[in-house]
Amino acid sequence: MAISCAGCGNELAPQQAAIPCPRCGSLDRNMTAEDGAALMDEKDRVAKYLATKHYEVEGGLSRIFRLTGAAELEVEPAEPIKLLEVNESTFSSGVRPLQFAPAPASGIPFPSVIVEVTPDEFAMIESEELKLPRGWKLGEELPKSLEEASGS
Ligand SMILES: [Zn+2]
Repeated sequence: MAISCAGCGNELAPQQAAIPCPRCGSLDRNMTAEDGAALMDEKDRVAKYLATKHYEVEGGLSRIFRLTGAAELEVEPAEPIKLLEVNESTFSSGVRPLQFAPAPASGIPFPSVIVEVTPDEFAMIESEELKLPRGWKLGEELPKSLEEASGS
């Protein structure tokens, strides 16, 4: 089974789930639970890829974590991939999520949200003195390179 467009019935790959249907432009999807699982796997893969890209271009980045919301939201194609980035060279400005649109040409076919914090702010998030927005939870730490991700 593939994810299908609710507009025209076109079958779509998981990486096409959050971008307009190439045939009719619709963003509505028909998905089974199995499709949802395939979509979650694809989001995991893209999250790791996005993290390695950020490590390549941003100096001062020390750690990147996945942020996750409610499971029923995460399975939605339009729910962004959310990353918490700990950056030694950023300014302390609190938890401010920055939204980005999907960039399929860059290998990121899902919307994303980046929250950048200082190491001190990260310590406060870990001790829950500083709250993450929208009920997000701190998820797994993402590797610095794809070799590291696939290794061991
Ligand atoms: Zn369509």
